Amino acid sequence: MLTNPDRLKLAIQKSGRLTDHSTDLLRRCGLQFSRGKDQLVGFGENMPFDLLFVRDDDIPDLVEEDVCDLGIVGLNIIEEKRLEMMSLGKTPTFSVLRSLDFGRCRLSIAVPEGFQYEGLRSLHGQRIATTYPFVLQRFLTTHAIDAQIVTLSGAVEIAPRLGRADVICDLVSTGSTLLANRLREVETVLESHAVIVQTPIALSEIKRSWVERLLLRIDGVQQVRESKYIMLHAPRSALSQIRTLLPGSESPTIIPLEGQDDRVAVHAVCKENVFWETLESLKAAGASAMLVLPVEKMLT
Ligand code: ATP
Ligand code: ZN
Repeated sequence: MLTNPDRLKLAIQKSGRLTDHSTDLLRRCGLQFSRGKDQLVGFGENMPFDLLFVRDDDIPDLVEEDVCDLGIVGLNIIEEKRLEMMSLGKTPTFSVLRSLDFGRCRLSIAVPEGFQYEGLRSLHGQRIATTYPFVLQRFLTTHAIDAQIVTLSGAVEIAPRLGRADVICDLVSTGSTLLANRLREVETVLESHAVIVQTPIALSEIKRSWVERLLLRIDGVQQVRESKYIMLHAPRSALSQIRTLLPGSESPTIIPLEGQDDRVAVHAVCKENVFWETLESLKAAGASAMLVLPVEKMLT
């Protein structure tokens, strides 16, 4: 079924924190696909991409072994896999094509309430529970810490209470899980976000050109998420000040206003969010009739 050599196979997480973000990104890139309930495959209807819905931990192998051409997965999983392969004397050859703007989290060390933490040296001789033994070992080696790693397959946050470890090393985003388990974050081991990875095997010409198109569209989607289009009227004399106030804009378009020699309309794309504070500063500089609009698509 998935053997057409000209169609790209892209692995994404079946059900988890990255699933909705991944399918949303692909849809914004123009991909329409059909997926029946509980089906593991989604067929691209308007672009030659087929999606494989799998566990996130399987994605690096699927891409490394060229079962899939591309995969969307957390950098945390990629780094762990890379270090694991290197420990076996193998050099991973998949390539990370882009960082994506979702799945942000950090792999952190956290200690139970009451643990006297006085910096990294407090970790000497401790048992640290984690599902990321290779990334953690690299951190411990870099900082010359002699600790024991307890590798678990899940439920890391309860390991101290069960007496299986003294401290933990786990993924954190808001910190609410740590709080609920009476743990305190003390060190960041790895900053992570989702990435798109590609097989080490050379792609056919036709597939390569589709990957390039997809990446251009991903860049466009990621740029517009933050971008705003701003329109305002301003005194000519305040233009240079107004330009400096517009966040992340290049050269604004200046348009004369009928019957008003001293005022102009300014239109600009701001590649950062425009906050109320910015509008207030613009008003103070003499701007009026300000409109901030979302940007739907962008190709630069
Ligand atoms: P699977 O069933 O696919 O193995 P999982 O339970 O291992 O799923 P999720 O909890 O859905 O994985 O997390 C997927 C990815 O989301 C993580 O590998 C990480 O890159 C990212 N992520 C973002 N925030 C967090 C968080 N607070 N905790 C865990 N992962 C997070
Ligand atoms: Zn997983």
